[in-house]
Amino acid sequence: MKKRSLLFLSQVKISMSSNTIQKLREYFEHFPGIGPRQAQRFVYWLLNQEPDFVKNLGELLLALRSDTKQCNQCFRFFTSSECRFCNNINRDKSRILVVEKDTDMENIEKAGVYNSLYFVLGDIIPFGQTIPKNIRLKELFGRIEHDSQKELKEIILAFSATAEGDNTCRYLEKILDPLVKKYSIKINRFGRGISTGAELEYLDKDTLKNALENRK
Ligand SMILES: [Zn+2]
Repeated sequence: MKKRSLLFLSQVKISMSSNTIQKLREYFEHFPGIGPRQAQRFVYWLLNQEPDFVKNLGELLLALRSDTKQCNQCFRFFTSSECRFCNNINRDKSRILVVEKDTDMENIEKAGVYNSLYFVLGDIIPFGQTIPKNIRLKELFGRIEHDSQKELKEIILAFSATAEGDNTCRYLEKILDPLVKKYSIKINRFGRGISTGAELEYLDKDTLKNALENRK
């Protein structure tokens, strides 16, 4: 009887732990660019790390949302006291560069080729599909309307050179057209020096500089 109970307990433990492995794998599969096999590798890799490493990682994950703020003007995430772009008096306020995500903006910033403002749209619009719910169209409209009454003179659309990126540009040009006309501002796309399929977050400094200089 005792033996059978022990066997039962160990089976429960195995089933619980495999459930945890499975659940964590499913979470990793939601990460951008991560498939089931990579997700599984992450889980087993974590199981082979020192307990402190996993504990610190868990604590950082918990702190990520509570320690991070989101700018109510450009919608980027940051951990300092205020947005270093929107609240920076040394930045030129006559241009807003619209990007899909924070990593695109970080890459442009790292290249040091741009000294004006940003807006993080949060997503792109796939061709022939419904507009994603998390895309910040209303917020972009509000920001352009607000800034156009101040120093804004130009909107620059900077998306990856993909069908979705082009579709997003076309859509934004259409919906922003009334504001562009009302306030006599310009709307331009990143120059087409970018090769087809190139993701903005991976472009090097020279390519970004050319794309910015050749915008139209
Ligand atoms: Zn900001």
